[in-house]
Amino acid sequence: MNETDPYELLGVRRRINAAGALTRLGGAVMAPEVVAAMAAASRASVDIGELQDAASRRIAEATGAEAGLVTTGAAAALTLAAAAAIARWDIAKMAALPHAGAFPHDILIPRTQRTGYAHALAASGARLVDIGHNDRGTGAGVRGLEAWEIETAITPSVVAMAFSVNAGSIVDLPAAIATCRANGIPLIVDAAAQLPPKENLRRFIDMGVDLVAFSGGKALGGPQASGILAGRRDLVASALLQQLDMDVAPDTWTPPRLVDRANLRGVPHHGIGRGFKAGKEEIVGLLVALERFVKADDAAANAVLQSRLEAIAASLSGFDVKLLPATQTGRVPVLEIAVADALAVSAALQKGNPPVHLSERHAARGVLTLDPQVLLPEHDAPLAAALRETLQSTVA
Ligand SMILES: *Cc1c(COP(=O)(O)O)cnc(C)c1O
Repeated sequence: MNETDPYELLGVRRRINAAGALTRLGGAVMAPEVVAAMAAASRASVDIGELQDAASRRIAEATGAEAGLVTTGAAAALTLAAAAAIARWDIAKMAALPHAGAFPHDILIPRTQRTGYAHALAASGARLVDIGHNDRGTGAGVRGLEAWEIETAITPSVVAMAFSVNAGSIVDLPAAIATCRANGIPLIVDAAAQLPPKENLRRFIDMGVDLVAFSGGKALGGPQASGILAGRRDLVASALLQQLDMDVAPDTWTPPRLVDRANLRGVPHHGIGRGFKAGKEEIVGLLVALERFVKADDAAANAVLQSRLEAIAASLSGFDVKLLPATQTGRVPVLEIAVADALAVSAALQKGNPPVHLSERHAARGVLTLDPQVLLPEHDAPLAAALRETLQSTVA
């Protein structure tokens, strides 16, 4: 037994992850520079508000937004975004959340944008109001979200609109932005997993959305429990206030620079986000990961991933394996493995020794996806061997 291996000491198995930076598998595998920065950050005391001010400047540079905040994940960013849209600068509303019945708290959400992560918006105390239809998603028809459907749903109780963007839904985003802007309603965009490409860091802000959430523990390569909320300065400041520890003496409290105290009628108590506090280690780790992500040569990294996938595919001759280059996926190259019963093969791989994970996102059409985003190079050979063995035994 290796006495310095924390997982071995706990009796927890290491897994071969060819499914992507999934939260349930621990998210990203961090680069040594990120780990080193987090270790250095851990051995000091700093003012977390001052650290978030510095983070805001870095995130603003990377995204083009007015301001930014390090959160404990994209889901936490969505809860804080919703809380900011409801409370703005009103500390009595901050104190009341998640009980928002006494003031406006509706968030519009198109039926095309409904995901399991909508719960994160509702956790703020917001009421989610479904609008529009899902004709394209269900195959029932050709129409997407239309401006009049948003306009007619906007009432005095609406505080924001939510949108979960991806390559398919982005066609509906410009109309949503224009309509929200014309009506003074902030638009909150969930772009948690829309990286790479790195251009998406700026894309939604450039288009005019008010707030955007990204995961830090997926492709960004930051700590698993980190994320970004970027956007309008007043909304980010409200989110920050509702996340910070507020056990402060009003007479000695120095607010972060993002927060203009003149906007506050007093000093808020612990807010709805106090349970999602970002630690100094996560904040520093996320910022170092963000800088690396912005500077990385994606074309070179994808070429390396593609040659690794070609080698794995070559060892699977005889099976139905197709390589999709990054130019086709819009992110990293992947292998698609067509099998008769995708979920049975996936289950067998997960029960193997070592356990192997492929992405099940296209299992419904008989495809397992080998996503190399966080696959360690030393896992290529054992992964290929496990795939060969399992495919042979399940096909035979
Ligand atoms: C992963 C994901 C989230 C949650 O992100 P965390 O950083 O794990 O909190 C939210 N929305 C979408 C679309 C996601 O893919």
